Amino acid sequence: MTPRTLDRTRLARLMSDELAAFEAANPRSRALFERAQGSMLDGVPMNWMVKWAGAFPLFVDEASGAHFTDVDGHEYVDFCLGDTGAMAGHTPEATRLAVEAQMRRGITHMLPTEDAIVAADELRRRFGPRFWQFTLTATDANRFVIRLARHITGRSKVLVHNHCYHGSVDETFAVIGPDGGATARRGNIGMPVALAETTRVVEINDLDGLERELAQGDVAVCLFEPALTNVGIVLPDPGYHEAVRELTLKYGTLLINDETHTICAGPGGYTRAHGLHPDFVTIGKTIGGGIPAAAYGFTEEVADRIHAAIEREDSDVGGIGGTLAGNALSLAAIRATLTDVLTEEAFERMIPLAERFEDGVNGVLRAHDVPWHVTRLGARAEYHFLAQRPRNGTDLHDAADPALERFLHLWAMNRGVLMTPFHNMALMSPATIEADVDRHTAVFEAAVVALFE
Ligand code: PMP
Repeated sequence: MTPRTLDRTRLARLMSDELAAFEAANPRSRALFERAQGSMLDGVPMNWMVKWAGAFPLFVDEASGAHFTDVDGHEYVDFCLGDTGAMAGHTPEATRLAVEAQMRRGITHMLPTEDAIVAADELRRRFGPRFWQFTLTATDANRFVIRLARHITGRSKVLVHNHCYHGSVDETFAVIGPDGGATARRGNIGMPVALAETTRVVEINDLDGLERELAQGDVAVCLFEPALTNVGIVLPDPGYHEAVRELTLKYGTLLINDETHTICAGPGGYTRAHGLHPDFVTIGKTIGGGIPAAAYGFTEEVADRIHAAIEREDSDVGGIGGTLAGNALSLAAIRATLTDVLTEEAFERMIPLAERFEDGVNGVLRAHDVPWHVTRLGARAEYHFLAQRPRNGTDLHDAADPALERFLHLWAMNRGVLMTPFHNMALMSPATIEADVDRHTAVFEAAVVALFE
């Protein structure tokens, strides 16, 4: 049997049926969206919310665990989980109780609470780095470690993987240009300086390329997700990280593991699951159970270099700070989420659910002879429109099919399943159950039948 090819006319017809069904089923969301045009640009509180697959976003009524209900009364299984912000499940009880208690005792006061010590001890135990600092977003954690790395190495450049995403960090909106140097990625809004001035870019899994760029001697720090997750999931080749560590040490470059998404690999992220030893770990989104909270950790050696290079007088006004960073509410949320929700036992349940998701999707693809590939990283899995495993960001970037992806998202949404909007990714929470996964498999199979049979 030859593998199926997609009939674009059929896709367009199916898409227009789904758009009509979405409109008919969601009059209240639609009315709120129309009202929202009065005071919000494009009717949404943040511009990426216009990217959902329907003609307007669903407005949420309430969310709990792995489910939410929209204002039209439809109930959904949520595999998007706030693009990892709600990986602990929506409003996990332990986090809610800790946050409610802290709300009665003061939200922010620019002084530490004991929760900060428990949270930092737990991050150290899980990820390895000795010292921790707190911010509100993963973006800030990444921005601050880049500044520290530049300051203590006296070098100017940041090196990232092609098609990476690390939040709204200026240096990272780069891709490999036609001449091999860094150039702006599409949609880089209000770029402050040309990317070639701040950034070097290599593909993940390209060790020769990495060595060539590091050998220039101007790279302060490599900012890497240990596996790419934002262009789609790309797993590192065996031995890749060991070689990265060797090369960064050889050329005097520091190394950041951004674990914001790859914490799906286990309680101490990819770093601990694979015994890695970066100089910094950054993490946001998950650790506050949905309350804004993020952190960065670094080794004792980095701490010594910071102490040698930075005067205490310069703290807060030197580019690293944030009035609300380390606030009591965020720290109470981190403590409760790490100690009671995203626990070792929770991962022991979440990872098999992602395996079930992977098996379910693979079963459908094989049964209908569809040449797509599934990649899983711990509690996260995703299907790509590619026959084999992607080896780098370009493989996935080139395989993107926005029309097909939008159709699959809308089809799923119309049947009570929410996927991460930017690709076909699903994340398990401690509250997700097998029946949720099986619901996705059934809905996915129906989509495959509609497209190909
Ligand atoms: N790092 C990674 C790996 C991310 O995926 C993201 C967001 N998708 C960020 C950092 C930034 O997170 P935030 O927008 O919450 O600052």
